[in-house]
Amino acid sequence: MRPLLFAANWKMNLGPGEARSYLATFLKAYAPQPNRQVWFFPPAVSLETVANGLGNRSDLLAGVQDIYWESKGAFTGAISAPLAAQAGAKAALIGHSERRHVFGETDEQTGKKLAAALAAQLHPVLCVGETLEQRDSGQTLAVVKRQLAAALGERAATVRVTIAYEPVWAIGTGRNATPRDAATVHAAIRAWLEQHGAADTRILYGGSVNLKNAAELLAEQELDGVLVGGASLDPLAWTELVRTAVA
Ligand code: PEP
Repeated sequence: MRPLLFAANWKMNLGPGEARSYLATFLKAYAPQPNRQVWFFPPAVSLETVANGLGNRSDLLAGVQDIYWESKGAFTGAISAPLAAQAGAKAALIGHSERRHVFGETDEQTGKKLAAALAAQLHPVLCVGETLEQRDSGQTLAVVKRQLAAALGERAATVRVTIAYEPVWAIGTGRNATPRDAATVHAAIRAWLEQHGAADTRILYGGSVNLKNAAELLAEQELDGVLVGGASLDPLAWTELVRTAVA
């Protein structure tokens, strides 16, 4: 059976106290499952709490939602990859659509962040995906490939990353891609990765995944896991999603 990754992006929710009580509930409810990893991306203020709270369980890990590409210095408000690593992060979301579309992050900046994550030994989860306008004008695959090339480029064959395909129109909207839609784009991403010497890269799907649709999405062989925002905020619902979604 394929190892599956369930990644929880808490976005701007759950401060340290809330994170502590979330973990108390989650850890009691969720015993390790074979071939299943659960990664948490809390807001930076809760990172150390979550990293410490997960303890030594090898199926669980904490990551940071965003990093700046410089390692230290006069960059007020920013968090570098080495600082996130010091707080216990082992992974980093890179180029999440909210970074790209709310904060105006460019492909070039996303590439610099990915390089900074690798340099600090954070496992990058590179997010790619098209807007509704791009989808409607038939540009989905071109956009996704451009984003992959800009962030990974020539290093694709020599680095280990995870890709998250997250169509922008499906994030936080309650509209998810059909399992077939998702699988079609995943197959194109897989083909790009194969062409660039990175065939064994894991590809997640994200965008309004919830308890109702997770199993159906994960039944598609192209999906190696899910990246989940809203539906990861309640510890018991998240436990149920991780436990019941069948590969
Ligand atoms: C996300 O934050 O990456 C995400 C997919 O959010 P949601 O599940 O809320 O659509």
